Amino acid sequence: MFAAYSAAINGNRVLLLEKNEKLGKKIYITGKGRCNLTNDVSESEFIKNVVSNPKFMYGAVFALSPEKTMDFFENNGLHLKVERGNRVFPVSDKASDVTKTLQNVLIRIGVEIMLNSEVASIIFRESSVTGVVLSEGRTIDCDSVIVCTGGVSYPLTGSTGDGFKFAKSAGHSIVSPKPALVGAELQGDDFRPLQGLTLKNVGISVFLNEKCVYDDFGEMLFTHFGVSGPIILSCSSIINRMNVSSLILSVDLKPALESSVLDKRLLRDFTLNNAKSIYGVLRLLLPQSVISLILTRAKIKEKTKCAEITREERCALVSVIKNLKFKMKRLRPIAEAVVTAGGVNVKEINPKTMESKLVQGLYFAGEVIDVDCFTGGFNLQTAFSTGFVAGKNA
Ligand SMILES: Cc1cc2nc3c(=O)[nH]c(=O)nc-3n(C[C@H](O)[C@H](O)[C@H](O)COP(=O)(O)OP(=O)(O)OC[C@H]3O[C@@H](n4cnc5c(N)ncnc54)[C@H](O)[C@@H]3O)c2cc1C
Repeated sequence: MFAAYSAAINGNRVLLLEKNEKLGKKIYITGKGRCNLTNDVSESEFIKNVVSNPKFMYGAVFALSPEKTMDFFENNGLHLKVERGNRVFPVSDKASDVTKTLQNVLIRIGVEIMLNSEVASIIFRESSVTGVVLSEGRTIDCDSVIVCTGGVSYPLTGSTGDGFKFAKSAGHSIVSPKPALVGAELQGDDFRPLQGLTLKNVGISVFLNEKCVYDDFGEMLFTHFGVSGPIILSCSSIINRMNVSSLILSVDLKPALESSVLDKRLLRDFTLNNAKSIYGVLRLLLPQSVISLILTRAKIKEKTKCAEITREERCALVSVIKNLKFKMKRLRPIAEAVVTAGGVNVKEINPKTMESKLVQGLYFAGEVIDVDCFTGGFNLQTAFSTGFVAGKNA
């Protein structure tokens, strides 16, 4: 939609082909239905949140920055608000208003929109685009095509990887798609009683052969398959090219307390409550559902009286509370991932124009490109910025 807008205001006759019955189906489910459409940060801060190929994004983000994007929406009647972490939402809290705003702009500037119109292939002649073929068989002539077909995540919204097929047919290489911003499954069963537990202000570290490959601080949760929540989603974007089943996730339940301080705190609690069971006393410090697992890992019986806890047992407890370890199994499937990492190889796209370096008149924008970002509105902004540049140059 942004690519069509940009191409139209630059004097082109534009046809937007959408295979769904309506525009922007994925937008409706973004930001839990509220659409976190961008992040109110500078261009350089933005780039820090691009996980794959940040350098490729430089030109596009400077061409259409978050600030310019916000101006665009405000000027077209969508009032915005900035929330925690500079996340930008419509004041109405309705993702549908974002789609409506874009659609209204497109209609006003004369973009022709064809719904229920699936592109089957792109026609090339002597390394130039000459048209597209629709699935129903019709051919449409054109001198430029902007492929904005998304990745392969949440395919029910329309992103079924068609763009990868089109890119391949033009000779492009595709960096193999991987799930990003997705939960992770854990090995074993001992995490299962923790299902539904949300942990705020915890630290996580991920180890490969005892080397830390990722660490973060924030909120996570346990689910029926393993772990999810903001810091796990971010982590998935980094570990998705690793052998996940070799990784160890270590959760620090008390990151604000150094081990020695935590040890003193436990000693004090145990002394004050020496006739009570350790299980009851740990409830002062930890969520109830995690206590059994911690005591099992520290090899302490739940009914043990605090007075009976040895120094070694206390050390073991501190160690488990600061390093609650789980073997990872795999990331959840790509269809469940918030974004697709991988896609059309950026080495084959001109970052100043988004044009293919292989075929004249062929452009790419959005998630179909091998660029993915952390959460916070950066992925939609990437789609807007690359779409804006592609439209301007098409
Ligand atoms: C649950 C969820 C929540 C998210 N929340 C946020 C958020 O709050 N903030 C954020 O920044 N990002 C969020 N994202 C990510 C963001 O939605 C995507 O990165 C963004 O939509 C990508 O835009 P796109 O235009 O490249 O692709 P899409 O939005 O996937 O759009 C591609 C379009 O192309 C159409 N299409 C595909 N193939 C064809 C074909 N052959 N012919 C015709 N049409 C075709 C599809 O039907 C679809 O409408 C979220 C994603 C999910 C799944």
